[in-house]
Amino acid sequence: MAKPLIVGNWKMYVNSLADGKKLLKDIDHSFPRGVKADVVVCPPIPLAVVLRRAYAGRRISFGTQDSFWEQEGPFTGATSPRALAESGIEYVILGHAERRMLGDTNEIVAKKVSAALLAGLRPIVCVGENIRDEEGKHFATLKTEIVESLSRTASASAGRIAIAYDPLWAIGAKEPAPPRVAAQSIIFIRKTLAEMWGREQALKTRIIYGGSVDSEHAVLFASEKSIQGLLPGRASVDAKEFCAIIKEFSRL
Ligand code: PEP
Repeated sequence: MAKPLIVGNWKMYVNSLADGKKLLKDIDHSFPRGVKADVVVCPPIPLAVVLRRAYAGRRISFGTQDSFWEQEGPFTGATSPRALAESGIEYVILGHAERRMLGDTNEIVAKKVSAALLAGLRPIVCVGENIRDEEGKHFATLKTEIVESLSRTASASAGRIAIAYDPLWAIGAKEPAPPRVAAQSIIFIRKTLAEMWGREQALKTRIIYGGSVDSEHAVLFASEKSIQGLLPGRASVDAKEFCAIIKEFSRL
C-alpha cells in the first residue's frame, strides 16, 4: 500500500527566510519517530528553493504552490516547472481553490499538470466543490473538475500524481469537513479515476483531504481507510500542530 502523504501548504503565511528557517527547524525538532508517511512542505517559491538547499535532513521534501504550463519562453513573471525541478523541488500543488479563484480554469490546470509531470515534478492536484447541496449535485461538479483537470494526464502517470480533495467551503473554516463526508468524496474521486484510467492505475494515485485540518481532527481522518493523507494550510505553519498531524498518519 502507498505511504500516506502529508503536505503543508504554507500559502503566503511565511514570508521571511528567518521565519521559514525557524519553522523548518522546529518541524525537524518535533518530527515524530518512525514516520511512515511522505512529508512535504510547500513554502512560497523563493523560500522553497533556498530552504531546500539549506535543509540537510532527508525526512522532509519540498514543493511549491503553483508552476506554469510551459517550460520556457516569453512568460514574464511565470515560474517554469523545469526551473523548480532543477532547484531540487519535488512536488507542486496545482489547481488550489485560491488559484482557481484567481483565474485557473480546469484547462489551465490540465496544462500545468502535464508540464509539471514533463519536468519531473510530482503534482498534487486540488479539486473540490465550492458549495454542497442536499441533492448531491456537487458530485457532478467534482467529476467535471477531475476529468477536465486531468484531461492531459496519461494513466501511466497515475503513480506520480496525488489528488487533494480540498473543497472551498472547508478551507479557512472553523471546522474541517466531517471525515465521513470527506471519505465519501474521496471514494467518488477514486471511482472517477478508475473510469478514466482503469482500476489498477487509479489505485496508484494517492488521494488526500484538505480543509481546516488540525491535530485534533487528524485522528478521525486517519481512521478513514480511503483518506491517504492530509493537506493542512494554517496548521502547517505551526510546527507542533503539523508534527501531531504527521504522527496520526504514521500509526497506520
Ligand atoms: C487549504 O487552503 O488547502 C487549506 C487546507 O487551508 P486551511 O487548512 O487553512 O483551511
